Amino acid sequence: KPRLYSGMQPSADSLQIGNYIGALMQWRDLQEAYDAFFSVVDLHALTQPNDPAELREKTRRTAAQYIAAGIEPARSTLYVQSHVRAHAELAWILSTITGFGEAGRMTQFKDKSQRYGSDATSVGLFTYPVLMAADILLYQTDIVPVGDDQKQHVELTRDLAERFNSRYGQTFRVPMPVIQQETARIYDLQVPTAKMSKSAESDAGVLWLLDDPAKSAKKVMRAVTDSEGSVRYDRENKPGVSNLLVIYAALTGRQIPSIEDEYAGRGYGDFKKGLAEVVVNEFGPVRERALELLADPAELDRVLAANAARADEVADATLASVYDKVGLLRRV
Ligand code: ATP
Ligand code: MG
Repeated sequence: KPRLYSGMQPSADSLQIGNYIGALMQWRDLQEAYDAFFSVVDLHALTQPNDPAELREKTRRTAAQYIAAGIEPARSTLYVQSHVRAHAELAWILSTITGFGEAGRMTQFKDKSQRYGSDATSVGLFTYPVLMAADILLYQTDIVPVGDDQKQHVELTRDLAERFNSRYGQTFRVPMPVIQQETARIYDLQVPTAKMSKSAESDAGVLWLLDDPAKSAKKVMRAVTDSEGSVRYDRENKPGVSNLLVIYAALTGRQIPSIEDEYAGRGYGDFKKGLAEVVVNEFGPVRERALELLADPAELDRVLAANAARADEVADATLASVYDKVGLLRRV
């Protein structure tokens, strides 16, 4: 089977609906046809300030949400990034073939560093994409399903793989990003021109997977729209309504025109009520399952440890060959 790699940061207690639509739904569908590795990338999460105890808890919660959303740890390799030492080690090697300017062109770094200011921007935030390249390349990955906000990072990963291969001989498989166009990006319900994010400054426009369903329904009802009053997709002039349509379509598997038809001549209130129901129906069971899993953290930790051992085998083989190729002396 071809290999698949993807991951998410444990940067909040709950995942948001963009993570679910932009990533988890695809992961779930792809895990049959691929030998899939799904990681909770806790080393990446360290690029933001964290309370240590909270980070541990967020890591478990993220893993539980993967499983609750349908990732099967007996079939796919679902593990915590820091449990597999090879990630940090390969990242160092790759950082030595990454250009300073090349890394500086990453738009996520530019956005985040601007928001944090230069004193709060760490070198780790700058080299984040190099660690992500290591994540992917360790597993000889064929495809990387991600939201379109990660496309540039996967392109850098490809460049680094090709550069390493041409300098040292065939070592890494060059991965392909897989991005679902229609639903590639979910926007904030209050600021529908900004990507919905776990780490958004205000959570008024973020729909959380683990939130009380009544609270999520309320957020949908309060979503920003426009004064036109017609339910129709127009990303440029009607970003709020278009975003709601994309969410509706993604969660129901319906086409946007059929939803527009259903709500033709009806107001935004009806449309939002319909969407709130869809959201509650979809996330109610996911939330319950996640909370069940979190009620037995010892069992969850055992599952993660077994999966990390599986990941180690593949990752160590790649790392050993990299160490050899670049000329590090073998420890006998
Ligand atoms: P953070 O704010 O901490 O960066 P995030 O919500 O952006 O959190 P990530 O952990 O960076 O989440 O990304 C996890 C996955 O979810 C990635 O595949 C990413 O492309 C996808 N993703 C994140 N936000 C969205 C979104 N708004 N729409 C679609 N996909 C998204
Ligand atoms: Mg992100």
